Amino acid sequence: MSPSAPTTAGTGLNIEKVRADFPILQRSVHGKPLVYFDTAASAQRPLKVIDAVNDFYLNHNANIHRGVHTLSQEATEAYEQARIKTAGFINAPAAQEVVFTRGTTESINLVAHSFVRPRLQPGDEILISWMEHHSNIVPWQMLCEETGAVLKVVPINQRGELEMDALADMLTQRVKLLGVVHVSNALGTVNPVAEICALAKQHGIPVLVDGAQAMPHQAVDVQALGCDFYCFSGHKMYGPTGIGVLWGRAEHLQAMPPYQGGGEMIRHVTFEKSTFNEAPGKFEAGTPNIAGAIGLGAAVDYLQSLGMENVAAWEARLLAYGTEKLSQIEGFRMIGTATHKAGVMAFVLGDIHANDVGTIIDLHGVAIRTGHHCAMPVVEFFGLPATARASLGIYNTFEEIDILSDALKAAIKMFA
Ligand code: PLP
Repeated sequence: MSPSAPTTAGTGLNIEKVRADFPILQRSVHGKPLVYFDTAASAQRPLKVIDAVNDFYLNHNANIHRGVHTLSQEATEAYEQARIKTAGFINAPAAQEVVFTRGTTESINLVAHSFVRPRLQPGDEILISWMEHHSNIVPWQMLCEETGAVLKVVPINQRGELEMDALADMLTQRVKLLGVVHVSNALGTVNPVAEICALAKQHGIPVLVDGAQAMPHQAVDVQALGCDFYCFSGHKMYGPTGIGVLWGRAEHLQAMPPYQGGGEMIRHVTFEKSTFNEAPGKFEAGTPNIAGAIGLGAAVDYLQSLGMENVAAWEARLLAYGTEKLSQIEGFRMIGTATHKAGVMAFVLGDIHANDVGTIIDLHGVAIRTGHHCAMPVVEFFGLPATARASLGIYNTFEEIDILSDALKAAIKMFA
């Protein structure tokens, strides 16, 4: 660590203790200690999450909601407790507003089909931003093709920030939904979501927020944000894969038709007609990812035990240190230089292809992501086919940024 590197002092986190919570960080890659800078793609799991999932399968495994026997009741209780914990974590007014899904992608598709589709007329508009992940682009595109609605895109500037004036101008009567990412996975930009929601509300336009990359980095309060829907994934916030959340305002969820039909989402079925459960059950057809939900509840407990303010403070220091350190490397160019950023350092290194950068530094034990990060339009906005992306998690350290920096210098030497 260089002499100027900041420490954990004052952030409320004991980073050595945090690292000890993540068993995978003990392993080596190509004979070097693993340095994991790919949290934006999927975070590592703390032992508490792994244990919660194991404990479910070892001691309580059964299907939920339908059984009178003890195991089924225990499983149901654990699943519903996870919903209550998750609702508390995002300050949802009620646990019934938390729908468990497979992840952000499914949450957005659910809103597209159940909330937006029935309201769309040809010529209506869906508004998104230029920095969206494909999961907040493609479902809308498909819906527009089906209905004759039009997809409109709010521009960004060269720092990777939303053009707020343009956004304000684009909020017209024709817009039936505004979908916006809270924290961009490709740039790290933190969008002013509360301000955006307030603007949209003036025009009566509902707002869906893609919170996949915000949840692991900062406290999220859906009431303070003022959005209508908030979507996120368990695996980005130290929980299991295959579980995620759609939070929606109760009045929307009540009015929305089911997304999928099957068991659990019904109240009464005859061959002539079926009636449906209340939300959230109405949207959770079939046997859900019970262990995943319980693991997500454990991830919420874990993040709450650290304190999201501490997480945000630690990662802000890492980001500032990393930005300064890496910017000293010849040929390094940061892609995404917004004033408000979280968790992501995307870059190009001279004219070395991003995939080559990633492959070479993997030999140093350093895991980063390369490519378009499922956000092709924004990478192309910067005139690039791909970037390299080092993304931060609570377990990263200043020493690891130094290792990344040395590995990048080694890559440059190889291509000199
Ligand atoms: N939105 C953003 C900003 C993301 O970063 C991702 C995943 O990388 C997604 C949505 C999709 O998440 P999932 O694949 O878990 O559905």
